Amino acid sequence: MRYPNYLTSLKEQQDWSTTNISDYSLQALDFMTIMNTSRSLSSEVNLEQLIKRLMEIVTFSSGAERSILVLKERDNLFVEAEMLALDGKDSCIVNPVALETKEDLPAAVIQFVARTKEGVVLDDAANTGFFTHDPYIRETDAKSIFCEPILHQGNLVGVFYLENNLIRNAFTSDRLDIIKLLSAQAAISIENARLYNDLESKVKERTNELILMETSRRDLLSNISHDLGTPLTSIQGYVEAILDGVIQEPEEQRKYLSVVHMRIVGIQRLITDLYQLSRLETKQFHFQLAPTSCQTMVRQLFAKYELDAANAGITYTLDMSPTEGEDLLLTVDTDRIEQVYANILYNAIKFSARGGFINVLVTIRPEPFELVIRVTDTGVGISEEDLPHIFERFYKVSKSRSTSGGSGLGLAIAKEIVQYHGGQIWAESRLGKGCSISFSLPVHRI
Ligand code: ADP
Repeated sequence: MRYPNYLTSLKEQQDWSTTNISDYSLQALDFMTIMNTSRSLSSEVNLEQLIKRLMEIVTFSSGAERSILVLKERDNLFVEAEMLALDGKDSCIVNPVALETKEDLPAAVIQFVARTKEGVVLDDAANTGFFTHDPYIRETDAKSIFCEPILHQGNLVGVFYLENNLIRNAFTSDRLDIIKLLSAQAAISIENARLYNDLESKVKERTNELILMETSRRDLLSNISHDLGTPLTSIQGYVEAILDGVIQEPEEQRKYLSVVHMRIVGIQRLITDLYQLSRLETKQFHFQLAPTSCQTMVRQLFAKYELDAANAGITYTLDMSPTEGEDLLLTVDTDRIEQVYANILYNAIKFSARGGFINVLVTIRPEPFELVIRVTDTGVGISEEDLPHIFERFYKVSKSRSTSGGSGLGLAIAKEIVQYHGGQIWAESRLGKGCSISFSLPVHRI
């Protein structure tokens, strides 16, 4: 008798659904008992718990020294759990690793069973059968091996691999029958637990989405009432002044109407930006991703804003070595990346005086492999306490500064876009000493 610790009378037990089979005598385990216990597993919806209980039943009812459960996930085989009989109950380790990376296994046997969906029994594995050349079987002088597919409606769910290196012919025919039946039961139970897990994670995902949407909706409403309220009040004031005849001079009326017009354009921009930001934050925005050459994209971006910089009296330069980014690809939505760049550049122009400088420095980082675009200006800069907040929605460094109609959303939108592409955006600045805004994007070789 090999596992005296597990020897008690199984028949004395009442509640099979909570019975741990490893506690009982292998000899006392009759066929019906094992099947009753295994059937109770179908109510176990926690995949890890299920695997542990399955492994205990299989290990102690098969006479295996070592049991392995391999599961198929998206066409790949993973060693999901391992148990040594000698270590006793609760010794099952559930830790999925790719089958190819496990060296202490005859992967060829497992792959054969997975491919053919037929079980393999080796009574003296190192000396007879098809797998005598397998490195693991040779090195360990393997003796008894039993490998059985777990099939659900004819499809492979996984494989049980059982070995006993102490004796030959360890897996007698009655034990094989039991494992075959347990495999069928395991297939149903694993599929059930997987379905349940999928359902649970879908429910969680949906709940998080709803929470995000609700938060975003609330933010949107409070932003709308705050940032639309002010210009609307001023529009109302000016229009009423004209209608009530307070402002009568046509020249004066024109002046006030042009302010009203400016405010309306600002509101329109704000609404467009807010709408885009909300869709970005709730992951409802659809990006049009396409592979793009680094060099081409950067040069086009730079060229598009040369005239704006020149009109503002600013010297605008690009630092990019002819080989930097050569033969590298970005997978991006170029219109959205242009939006990021334009926002950074318009800020740099807006906050720089005539005669200032804007430099665009382009580098490639090895680890992680990414393109970094850094826009540095010689403008007013940002103070230490404002700097960490400039990527927040509606953050404007100083109301008096934002005379040119900034909504305070540009950098918040830029951050969402860059993060969607797997990159980062950050700022460095000192008040009065200019500002650098950088963003990174993952690249890959052609
Ligand atoms: P907006 O859409 O109003 O331009 P942003 O989100 O783009 O708002 O910018 C947020 C804040 O960061 C603004 O208040 C602006 O004053 C400040 N800022 C952004 N870029 C610069 C820069 N290059 N120099 C100085 N301040 C900047």
